[in-house]
Amino acid sequence: MRLACVFSSAAKSQNPIKTLFRRHRSLAVSALPIMADSEESLRRALSEKQAAVDAQAEAVRALKARPASAPSEIDAAVEALKALKVEAAAAARRLQAAVSRNGDGSTAGSREAFRQAVVNTLERRLFYIPSFKIYRGVAGLYDYGPPGCAVKSNVLAFWRQHFVLEENMLEVDCPCVTPEIVLKASGHVDKFTDLMVKDEKTGTCYRADHLLKDYCKEKLEKDLTLSAEKAAELKHILAVLDDLSADEVGAKIKEYGIAAPDTKNPLSDPYPFNLMFQTSIGPSGLSPGYMRPETAQGIFVNFKDLYYYNGNKLPFAAAQIGQAFRNEISPRQGLLRVREFTLAEIEHFVDPEDKTHPKFVDVSNLEFLMFPRKEQMAGESAKPMILGEAISKGTVNNETLGYFIGRVYLFLACLGIDKDRLRFRQHLPNEMAHYAADCWDAEIECSYGWIECVGIADRSAYDLRAHSEKSGVALVAHEKFSESREVEKLVIVPSKKELGLAFKGNQKMVVEALEAMSEKEALKMRASLESKGEVDFHVCTLGKAVVITKNMVSISIEKKKEHQRVFTPSVIEPSFGIGRIIYCLFEHSFYTRLSKSEDEQLNVFRFPPLVAPIKCTVFPLIKTQKFDDVAKIIARSLTAAGISHIIDITGTSIGKRYARTDEIGVPFAITVDSTNSVTIRERDSKEQIRVSIDEVAKVVKEVTDGQSTWADIMWRYPAHAASLVDEE
Ligand code: AMP
Repeated sequence: MRLACVFSSAAKSQNPIKTLFRRHRSLAVSALPIMADSEESLRRALSEKQAAVDAQAEAVRALKARPASAPSEIDAAVEALKALKVEAAAAARRLQAAVSRNGDGSTAGSREAFRQAVVNTLERRLFYIPSFKIYRGVAGLYDYGPPGCAVKSNVLAFWRQHFVLEENMLEVDCPCVTPEIVLKASGHVDKFTDLMVKDEKTGTCYRADHLLKDYCKEKLEKDLTLSAEKAAELKHILAVLDDLSADEVGAKIKEYGIAAPDTKNPLSDPYPFNLMFQTSIGPSGLSPGYMRPETAQGIFVNFKDLYYYNGNKLPFAAAQIGQAFRNEISPRQGLLRVREFTLAEIEHFVDPEDKTHPKFVDVSNLEFLMFPRKEQMAGESAKPMILGEAISKGTVNNETLGYFIGRVYLFLACLGIDKDRLRFRQHLPNEMAHYAADCWDAEIECSYGWIECVGIADRSAYDLRAHSEKSGVALVAHEKFSESREVEKLVIVPSKKELGLAFKGNQKMVVEALEAMSEKEALKMRASLESKGEVDFHVCTLGKAVVITKNMVSISIEKKKEHQRVFTPSVIEPSFGIGRIIYCLFEHSFYTRLSKSEDEQLNVFRFPPLVAPIKCTVFPLIKTQKFDDVAKIIARSLTAAGISHIIDITGTSIGKRYARTDEIGVPFAITVDSTNSVTIRERDSKEQIRVSIDEVAKVVKEVTDGQSTWADIMWRYPAHAASLVDEE
């Protein structure tokens, strides 16, 4: 199992336990370790003004205390003090505006108000609802109601079309209940943890890093007296939060006097809490299992059969959509951090020596916001980059990873995610699992900040190696040579006896680390052992260096004839949090507009037809039998064309009926106002065309399937004056 990454300076600073999983501790990523210049200078300006106010106040006091002071002298000093206070207040206002402003100029308050409007609409129209609501609900569990279910199923159908169909992926559907051995091999049993603290009196649990993050953010936003140095310290903590050990987080919690948010009681020291829901399989209780925390393991354990199914050929990808379960310590932020959610994952298996992609040209000209590691470390922001250039400059590690980044961009853009609020952020070295070659997250900006919605990682051979070792089944691929080849093979033979004597219980980890050395590393070690007899060797899984002596390992290069190459494929894994994507889509699609009478704000979701929960509505303009009959004929033709629709034959004004369906994002409304032709209204422009009854289903299908745009349709059919009907 390739757990150690020896001799790499980056690896030495990593905490292997933290980096084994690429879980994000923070949802809204603040990747900027450096304070923006303007904020820093505003803080300095404010503290200078404050110091001047204090000095002047002292001078006024001294003047007043001195019997010889002239009244005019005191008045002048008081006036000067007042002027300085005005200047200090202005400096405080400028700083407050800078720290509470988002990149787009919005403030925390306006973001909160926008979110409230969206969430109220979503819950009122049953897009989603807290689960088990009549029993007061359970944190982190949500139900999708009818329009939410429809949106989710449209998103998943498009995911299948865009990824599974396009790449001929092998889709599987594995159980949620997973035996312990599988998750032991993957490392989840031992290391899938978050740091938890408890209220010492009530026992309420909190995520330690969340408390520290909230403290730093609140101080930075609200404490205007914070010195520039202290502000830089807090920003640094935010930047390295993922990398802090339990002791370091605990020390900071103590240093800053952070208490339990609800009671202000003292907190326990942080300790790791495993996020998997444990269960047992079968009635005996002897076979432990867990609810899967991700769908990927189901694919890895089936690799051998899938490879065979694919004609023993690489590359190929397998995909799975399913529920994942994580017993989050303190779920918050609605659908963004929940305890059960739908994941859609792809595992693309590829030869580690050839990560080119034949279809990369299809995406190489795409240009979108990318946020490479270098820019993050320099405190810069995301910039538009052409994907092909990101590959040729080596910013993205390989073409296959780049291909998936491009495809994920297209997927999210087609769903209706705003391209200006979508960026691809590269993991910083401290975020990346030590075995990973490169990782990028598709982050979407919403009222909570930038949210990781899709992780796209080159996980190298880690997962297949781990399961090969645990199961004893070789999860490998073969490349047959046309003629046998003489090859030089690196042979590393650790002496288990000597290593056991020297390292006792740690022997296994040292052996694994030695076996995992690359050729370059091994040859360097051999040279050192020959010249000095011993060498310092960093074992990531131990988090320290050990001394290896000559008798502990033999390293040689042997010549062999080979007919085939046997290797463990690398895996490139795009992993989609469907609920997070859907929530961001809700926010990006939502807007309000004034009613015709200008006395009400009406809510609209501008979903593209692809994701809209219902594609069209049918409204008889007035309540008469003949219009109801036409509406029923149209409904039948829509059903036959596979278009989801609703008929609203209530006598309510047509404007009110439009408003009701705009609020759930229905893109087209058919109004029956005669017995041979009807109008079709487009939701956002409110433009209308007149179409004969025979054609209406065909036209709606064309425009909802994306074969034609509304503009094309407008061109072909006569416009209908909207004033004829009473828009709300
Ligand atoms: P991870 O395996 O932690 O990288 O997660 C894969 C994807 O699942 C992330 O990109 C998120 O979109 C999503 N995700 C992770 N944890 C949660 C959660 N608690 N609630 C909702 N979505 C999540």
